[in-house]
Amino acid sequence: MLDQTAIDALRHETVGDQGHFCDGKSVASKSGETLDVISPIDGKRFANLAAGTPEDMDEAVASARRAFEDGRWSKAAPSHRKKVLLRLADLIERDALKLAVLGIRDNGTEINMAYKAEALSAAATFRYYAEAIDKVYGQIAPTAENVLGLVHHAPVGVVGAIVPWNFPLMIGAWKIAPALAAGNSLVLKPAESASLSLLKVAELASEAGLPDGVFNVVTGAGAVVGEALALSMEVDVLVFTGSGATGRRLLNYAAASNLKRCYLELGGKSPNIVFSDAPDLAQAAKVSAAGIFRNSGQVCVAGSRLLVQEDILDDFVAEICLHAEAFRVGDPLDLNTQIGAVHSLPQLEADLQFVVTAESEGAERRTGGSRILQETGGYYMQPTVMTNVKPTDTIAQQEVFGPVLAVTAFQDEADAIRIANSTQYGLAAGVWTANLSRAHRMISEIRSGVIHVNTYGGSDLTVPLGGVKQSGNGHDKSLHALDKYVDMKTAWIQL
Ligand code: ADP
Repeated sequence: MLDQTAIDALRHETVGDQGHFCDGKSVASKSGETLDVISPIDGKRFANLAAGTPEDMDEAVASARRAFEDGRWSKAAPSHRKKVLLRLADLIERDALKLAVLGIRDNGTEINMAYKAEALSAAATFRYYAEAIDKVYGQIAPTAENVLGLVHHAPVGVVGAIVPWNFPLMIGAWKIAPALAAGNSLVLKPAESASLSLLKVAELASEAGLPDGVFNVVTGAGAVVGEALALSMEVDVLVFTGSGATGRRLLNYAAASNLKRCYLELGGKSPNIVFSDAPDLAQAAKVSAAGIFRNSGQVCVAGSRLLVQEDILDDFVAEICLHAEAFRVGDPLDLNTQIGAVHSLPQLEADLQFVVTAESEGAERRTGGSRILQETGGYYMQPTVMTNVKPTDTIAQQEVFGPVLAVTAFQDEADAIRIANSTQYGLAAGVWTANLSRAHRMISEIRSGVIHVNTYGGSDLTVPLGGVKQSGNGHDKSLHALDKYVDMKTAWIQL
């Protein structure tokens, strides 16, 4: 059980100047420059980050390369790597509340969600890949008798990981844990506005016994250190979660350097489709509202397009609006809060602008649409429902990444499929129907990496997450994620 007194004791804890974490220790940026860390809770600066330079990044990558080549981790027995990563999971759990509160001061996610989805989920992810790594085998090929064909899975070398600000620990762990479990070295570039908790995880990894140089973190501007990481000739695989625009750049950087493999988890504009034969429309409305508004809509799989069958449109929208208005938005460190802050002022302004644009294109603002709690200095926005949205409208085509739901009516199954597939994205989807055959048809026809049936959101580590179309490629989570962090190597042995 989370305890408000314990949370309040941490909420103003001093955060010293933060260096990069390189070769097992904290180091300042070579330029001596820093970035302000502003809390979305109150709009105030509460920490400094090292503003990395390309030279800082090169040094971190060199440290990772040295560690990989001398085998201090890459050649350690999988059972040893497992032990260290299990210890790291325990340490993350030990410090879960501290990590959650620090992360919230950085990015504004409310505490009930952040504690579970950030700290505890990261611990579970480290445990999952630690446990997996001494249980995955190579293969013996079905060759003729006089030949032995072996398929090895070798670590790739140095992995570069660039992660976003919405769930830094959860998404970070999805990449760090399998990369390290497979024996790689890693250089991580967290988002400028969500670096603090990941820096702490790197320190905890050292405490758990991870050798120096195996896990490095370089902070700073994406366009500076992120670019340097992606252009490095010494990075073998690049894994990324973030915007499509940055994803495109990364592919160019890979092409301009060493053709490193790139795995991109990009945005979504996920359709959540409610048929009038849904088994429980009240439940559908409740879950659909949470599916867009939790974490202020700053969730890559958020069900941001609600497609509702015409004959239930009015009642269903009314119900969704009731839920939207009932959410308690506010201080993310208050246990009673259900939705915290939007993570930055530019993000809040962009969210509000999407509402204005939608109205100018003919949509109707049914509830919300405004900034609130401005007196706190923080960045808060009402859950917003826009109706009468045409499939071609800006708000139906572009990812808002804010608490804004776009509602469109559809007539029948074919109409729903056509509208659902009419964006560049293909990350997630939802279908609500009691008709099993229809559910299966929708699963097959909707182009998305994940589709929820009679629920929205929710998953665990056992299933992969990845996108199709311009939502990206490659998968986080499950044993499939390990594929990104290994090279297949064939040995053909004449007997
Ligand atoms: P968002 O819009 O969600 O912030 P971004 O794609 O801008 O998404 O950010 C995701 C991550 O990508 C962050 O860590 C950010 O610093 C990094 N990033 C941004 N621009 C670049 C770039 N040009 N090269 C490499 N990384 C970048």
